[in-house]
Amino acid sequence: MADHDADLFVIGAGSGGVRAARIASSYGARVMIAEEFRVGGTCVIRGCVPKKLLVYASRFSGEFEDAAGYGWTVPEPKFHWPTLIANKDREIARLEAAYITTLERFNVKLLKSRAVLEDAHTVRLLSSGARVRAETILIATGGWPHPGPKIPGLEHVISSNEVFHLPELPKRIVIQGGGYIAVEFACIFAGLGSEVTLVYRGENILRGFDDDVREHLRSEMRGRGITVTCGHTVTAIEKAGDKLVTRLSDDSTVTVDKVMFAIGRRPNIMGLGLKSVGVKLAEHGGIAVDEYSRTSVANIYAVGDVTNRANLTPVAIREGHAFADTIYGGKPTPVDHANVPTAVFSEPELGVIGLTEAQAREQLAKVDVYKTSFRPMKATLAGRNTRSFMKLLVDGITGRVVGCHIVGPDAGELIQLVGVAVKMGATKADFDATMAVHPTAAEELVTMREKAMSYGRSAAE
Ligand SMILES: Cc1cc2nc3c(=O)[nH]c(=O)nc-3n(C[C@H](O)[C@H](O)[C@H](O)COP(=O)(O)OP(=O)(O)OC[C@H]3O[C@@H](n4cnc5c(N)ncnc54)[C@H](O)[C@@H]3O)c2cc1C
Repeated sequence: MADHDADLFVIGAGSGGVRAARIASSYGARVMIAEEFRVGGTCVIRGCVPKKLLVYASRFSGEFEDAAGYGWTVPEPKFHWPTLIANKDREIARLEAAYITTLERFNVKLLKSRAVLEDAHTVRLLSSGARVRAETILIATGGWPHPGPKIPGLEHVISSNEVFHLPELPKRIVIQGGGYIAVEFACIFAGLGSEVTLVYRGENILRGFDDDVREHLRSEMRGRGITVTCGHTVTAIEKAGDKLVTRLSDDSTVTVDKVMFAIGRRPNIMGLGLKSVGVKLAEHGGIAVDEYSRTSVANIYAVGDVTNRANLTPVAIREGHAFADTIYGGKPTPVDHANVPTAVFSEPELGVIGLTEAQAREQLAKVDVYKTSFRPMKATLAGRNTRSFMKLLVDGITGRVVGCHIVGPDAGELIQLVGVAVKMGATKADFDATMAVHPTAAEELVTMREKAMSYGRSAAE
């Protein structure tokens, strides 16, 4: 349209925004994208990628310990946090540059500015005050760490935004939160040698995950020296020299070098101008969208964490891609949010897909549960006291596998492939008919024969 500067204006160059921009452009749309911080968004700059690099770093300590049982003599290993952070920063800069190159290659015009909505077709760039008119606007502004309740000393608390840039490794750290980010960082710091106290207000970590998995991981974390304190909150933080005295709700104190809160993330919508333009929010606080990511304003769409559907990078990417296919590719593409496989990069790792046991029992008339717990082979010579756990939930009527939960080495890798089978509707009989790969841990998934439990609803229910 002649009176528009762009066919599509994307706010936010993260996982969802970048994918939408480049696919829309490949269909011939004139696309602009605004980014107020760094191109790549949370995942690349201060989320999945730097976190996974820290996870890798943290796992060497266990490998050094385990090596002795396999005949290796390892000189006392020393860890240097500034080296890790500098190398990580270099890699993140490389990835950011690659993202920028991709946008350039796809003729997407990048505007390094915060952008806010002025009306349904106008975006204002705060860096210059310039206004841009676009036929369609896509909001892909992601999420932001919840700062936490206003307790005394909150100013001393860091979030996942700052944790990647600490000048030194904290000797002792309190992490408040029970979600995957809190759990992952507890394991990262423990692996790197910090003394870690995880404080969570609920009764067990990883709310929303299968109860067996939560319990198994909690006990593994304790076995690795992490203090897991559930049913409590941090109520105050007091500075004492270069230390932080952290007070908990039972009035106990923990003296540490750093306090990190990872108590959830909120859709990043502050000051965007949504209300004045008429973009409505859903009950969960994210932008309300339909299955094509269209908001309550016909030409404004939203994808990724800002919609608070499933806050994961591959989901944001899929939503961005589907939006571009729908609007510019002539292929209306709804996104299927069912059976999203996901991992927690704790130590040991966790991989899950589908229903938890509690959900399966609630939703299905008959549920068969298969589970196993075993010592991974590698732990035997290493003398490491650890166990892996696997669980399959099966619809007792159709035989379909409706949930798979794995705690153990490479669980994230395993669940990606189990995810294909589950998405295809594989049955327990299909799992059983698949020949085992021996000796692996994954073979347990196709050799679980005995039901641990079978639940059925009576006719009256
Ligand atoms: C510590 C951590 C670890 C994580 N680990 C994983 C993981 O292992 N696996 C996984 O799948 N997911 C993980 N996630 C979640 C993942 O990062 C997000 O789901 C994903 O980045 C969402 O993509 P998005 O496009 O919605 O938003 P983002 O990637 O957050 O991008 C939004 C972008 O918009 C920009 N922006 C915001 N407002 C404006 C504005 N007004 N104007 C201009 N620009 C703006 C922001 O600066 C940002 O760059 C993790 C997140 C965190 C915090």
